Amino acid sequence: MACVSFPYDAPVSQTLFDRASLVTPGGVNSPVRAFRAVGGTPRFMVSGTGPYLTDADGREYVDLVCSWGPMILGHSHPQVVAAVQEAVARGTSFGTPGEGEVALAEEIVARVAPVEQVRLVSSGTEATMSAIRLARGFTGRAKVVKFAGCYHGHVDALLAAAGSGLATFALPDTPGVTGAQAGDTIVLPYNDLDAVRAAFAAHPGEIACVITEASPGNMGVVPPADGFNAGLKDLCRADGALYISDEVMTGFRTSKAGWYGVDGVAPDLMTFGKVMGGGFPAAAFGGRADVMAHLAPAGPVYQAGTLSGNPVATAAGLAQLRLLDDGAYAVVDAVSREIQELVTLALTKEGVAHRVQSASNMFSVFFTADEVRNYDDARKQEAFRFNAFFHSMLADGVYLPPSAFESWFVSTAHDARAVERIAAALPAAARAAAEATA
Ligand SMILES: *Cc1c(COP(=O)(O)O)cnc(C)c1O
Repeated sequence: MACVSFPYDAPVSQTLFDRASLVTPGGVNSPVRAFRAVGGTPRFMVSGTGPYLTDADGREYVDLVCSWGPMILGHSHPQVVAAVQEAVARGTSFGTPGEGEVALAEEIVARVAPVEQVRLVSSGTEATMSAIRLARGFTGRAKVVKFAGCYHGHVDALLAAAGSGLATFALPDTPGVTGAQAGDTIVLPYNDLDAVRAAFAAHPGEIACVITEASPGNMGVVPPADGFNAGLKDLCRADGALYISDEVMTGFRTSKAGWYGVDGVAPDLMTFGKVMGGGFPAAAFGGRADVMAHLAPAGPVYQAGTLSGNPVATAAGLAQLRLLDDGAYAVVDAVSREIQELVTLALTKEGVAHRVQSASNMFSVFFTADEVRNYDDARKQEAFRFNAFFHSMLADGVYLPPSAFESWFVSTAHDARAVERIAAALPAAARAAAEATA
């Protein structure tokens, strides 16, 4: 990081960050936002319109984070804003059932065939935590298989070898999770069916579920190898374990039906978040009706939430999903491909070893010549090159995820003008990556 320069200041953001650091640990409410991996001052954003964000210093950026995925229609989409305003005017929370949550559940069930029933929650973390509890309650088994580099939120039992912020900080684990909480978690290398086979052989009848990102985006984008998800499903079925596909990131992003719409492997349970909330805290888990029937009040497995199915969040999510037809995905996919090609071109021209990996419109850049199939591969990249690349892009008005281990996200609002600005910023960033030293 020593060789990364910060070509300009962000004085208002810096002042806000100083204030924040006094009252909030590390100055942020989610670790990756603090720019620790890349260095420099985190930008405090004040507004977003279409593909652009404006920071507290009045600088505009092309946004390639899109709130880590949710803003697939861009910022402040007029129809989503209108739906939110209309909902807010009717009241913000009732603590009772309401029609909005029924409509959102119906939309999810209609889009994703394996989801027969769905329960709404407020975050992806809650969704995966609840799905794990349900799988354990349903099977009467304790053990959970997860994959290194897959992030499923900050669920205690799932923070072993997780990606996302933990990849950024290279924390193998986190203090505060007890041996008892993590002791039933089996962590395996991603894309390795033999390892899964061996785990089932070592613990027959003990594994409640295998949870996997449908197509991982939290160690950078590392798609499942051909047959990997189908193999997981078969191994689970043979042992009586549940196959849980975490689509918090891919759900309603990689296609109308998320990654399920791409690979067609039907999980027993699925989790959703990000896009389905339209920029609000809304998430969900769902799947087989006979499994979901174990959930309270229909069954004995307890799960609840004061703000679950919140009327404003469900209105935003529903408005966003209803705008996401095949045409919208075609637009996002096309602009994603265009940006991927521009990045490849710029880095190739400067002779920078790299791989752009994608899963539909999700993509990320690894600074390595080799294919990245799992977390170990991802960690072999030259992340210092990313940091130089990141700061050059930022200086030229393009906001990338502040870590080499995160997916980049685009939206239907990323038009020709936004792409031109990215194209204009890339040559200098590629040069900075080429010249960077560890
Ligand atoms: C973001 C994410 C989560 C956690 O969701 P939060 O809303 O941040 O709690 C879980 N799983 C995956 C795959 C994610 O990308």
